Amino acid sequence: MSAQRGARVAIVESRYLGGTCVNVGCVPKKLFVYGSHVGEDLEDAAGYGWNVPLDQVSFDWPTLVANKNTEIERLNGIYGRLLENAGVTIIEGTATLADANSVVVGEQSYTTGHITIATGSWPVIPDIPGKESILTSNEMFYLPQLPRQAVVWGGGYIAVEFAGILAGLGVETTLLYRGELFLRGFDDDVREFTANEMRRKGVDVRFGTTIEAVESDGTYYDVTLNDGSHLTTGLVMAATGRRALVEGLGLEALGVKLSRSGHVEVDDHFQTSVPSITALGDVIGTPQLTPVALAQAMVLSRRLFGDGQGEMDYNCIPTAVFCQPNIGTVGLTEAEAKEAGHQVSIYRSEFRPMKNTLSGRQDRCLMKLVVDKESDKVLGAHMVGPDAGEITQGLAVAMKAGATKAQFDSTLGIHPTSAEEFVTMREPVT
Ligand code: NDP
Repeated sequence: MSAQRGARVAIVESRYLGGTCVNVGCVPKKLFVYGSHVGEDLEDAAGYGWNVPLDQVSFDWPTLVANKNTEIERLNGIYGRLLENAGVTIIEGTATLADANSVVVGEQSYTTGHITIATGSWPVIPDIPGKESILTSNEMFYLPQLPRQAVVWGGGYIAVEFAGILAGLGVETTLLYRGELFLRGFDDDVREFTANEMRRKGVDVRFGTTIEAVESDGTYYDVTLNDGSHLTTGLVMAATGRRALVEGLGLEALGVKLSRSGHVEVDDHFQTSVPSITALGDVIGTPQLTPVALAQAMVLSRRLFGDGQGEMDYNCIPTAVFCQPNIGTVGLTEAEAKEAGHQVSIYRSEFRPMKNTLSGRQDRCLMKLVVDKESDKVLGAHMVGPDAGEITQGLAVAMKAGATKAQFDSTLGIHPTSAEEFVTMREPVT
């Protein structure tokens, strides 16, 4: 965008174009989620009259990984061409900031008016004995073989998504979370409903449980839990958060301030404590979501090389967790709304999606609206169920526009869909 606005731009990349999202995040994850759903579709086929002999069905993990790799390489190529067509110089290597206006890559030094740090984040594994044998999402995307059993450690987005992928592909999966209920920050009904559904799908979800130590011979893992008991498994994956990737950039020497959590500190316009240096994306500690980083980049580019205007709006960020079933959410949770002083009405519906009737599948769906009693505004919309991400995107537009519950009610449903439930919930539960 900046190059198209006429700026001379170079990008320094040490790994892969497209960053975490394209290479070891959102994109390959979603491909794995699709892959892991196929097993259920095959099981459901019988109810719809298809004769799929399940004892003859098999799954080949290396094929999924290879096909995923081909797709990611295609996307890397597209990103490269997008940059080249816009006139951006791509420099392969690792950058260090030599002073407020120069970047060194290998032997070469580049001088520039503006430097933007968009180095992202990296998985963190808690410091326990045996941590070197623990995998992270980075390695999971290139795992040569699937184990028979796996332990996923953590209770955030990545943990629940990978637990769903592994279980869907037939791996006996245990999810360990240190707190009382995983997915902190999501609506409590969503958290409980998701835990129950994951358990019903066969994931061994354990709360109040964490890992103290791990011993591995490369094939088996002996996991010591906080209550002193042991688990034997074929793989341990940590999804215990991500830290800002700033090592080696030389920020401290330049006086670029970091926050206590290790993120680069910026003002509302992505300006760091050094005037010529800006930063955005995961490295500044705002929600670690691709669309957030993209929106920040659009604002920054416009401010630096466009009309100088533009503000980032962090209200009503919709998000989906591609666990199984999916979670889609936008706006305030019930607890957040009450904490902010709202008197709220809660609308909630639980049902078995139509597709599951003939298949006999017992999976259920949850929908919930949090409504401000005084203004009738919908403050939060939450869903757990198939296609929650797809459905929530449309709701986010309505909520951004300030939709009221009366407007939801006057919107006609699309029949028969699960989504229509969002406009037909008439009676509040509280
Ligand atoms: P999260 O911050 O979402 O979750 C980290 C989890 O690890 C929490 O449950 C946390 O527990 C737990 N944890 C942290 N430290 C420890 C520890 N020392 N011992 C035991 N447990 C610990 O991080 P993720 O790694 O899951 O994902 C990083 C970010 O990437 C997400 O927050 C999200 O923004 C983004 N992401 C988005 C996706 C999407 O849009 N679908 C998909 C995947 C990632 P506690 O809650 O108690 O602190």
